[in-house]
Amino acid sequence: AVRFEQVTKRYGATEVLSEISLDVRRGSTTCIIGPSGSGKSTLLRCTNLLARPDEGRVMIDGVDITGPGTDVDAMRARVGMVFQHFHLFSHLDVMDNVTLALRRVRRMAREEAEARAVAQLRAVGLEGLERRRPAELSGGQQQRVAIARALAMEPAVMLFDEATSALDPELVKGILNVMRDLALSGMTMLVVTHEMRFAREVAGEVVFMDRGRIVETGAPDRLFDHPGTARLQQFLDQVL
Ligand code: ATP
Ligand code: MG
Repeated sequence: AVRFEQVTKRYGATEVLSEISLDVRRGSTTCIIGPSGSGKSTLLRCTNLLARPDEGRVMIDGVDITGPGTDVDAMRARVGMVFQHFHLFSHLDVMDNVTLALRRVRRMAREEAEARAVAQLRAVGLEGLERRRPAELSGGQQQRVAIARALAMEPAVMLFDEATSALDPELVKGILNVMRDLALSGMTMLVVTHEMRFAREVAGEVVFMDRGRIVETGAPDRLFDHPGTARLQQFLDQVL
């Protein structure tokens, strides 16, 4: 489970997150929607300390990761993150991309790490491509490698930041299917997305952010069919 308690983040004089409180229960999927610049990515980045909250706390499975003395490497190993632009190591092949952190951070033996990688690559539909480099894969395949790499660490939570936004339209559905299967398997997920249909079908809860604040949150059917604020209505009119 992930819990944000009154999280505030500033860049200089600009407050980009204002007193965000949110619970993502274990095994549930929460989708974050909202206009550009509303703070969605910053909130995800506060979940693995790529950004540090100035106030408030972030708890993962009851542990305050924002407290002093947090082992950042150990914490990041428990938080899988998938970005819009896959962030693969271009000079490494698929197998080495997936096993690198297992071997370097987890100190796992090569054989064990590769066995785990093979299983994860199969789960995302990539078996047989272990020796390719990222440049020899489609965007959809690269994103599957990024997902397999994150899952191989057996994270407590998976973060997705517009994971399908850089993909050709015909590849989007495949990645959304991988994400949906992951959600159905009981992974705890925090998903920033513009895919409203995915949010409606998969999210237990949808969070609408604007200007660093949570404006509305609720079950997807409630939020999409009966927005409670003019601001959300306006946003939905633009994106649906
Ligand atoms: P988008 O939908 O375009 O990805 P977003 O909701 O993810 O937008 P953020 O990337 O979280 O928005 O940015 C929120 C605000 O914080 C923006 O105004 C942005 O310019 C600002 N911001 C983000 N990162 C930094 C940074 N490292 N330094 C200064 N300002 C930043
Ligand atoms: Mg963003």
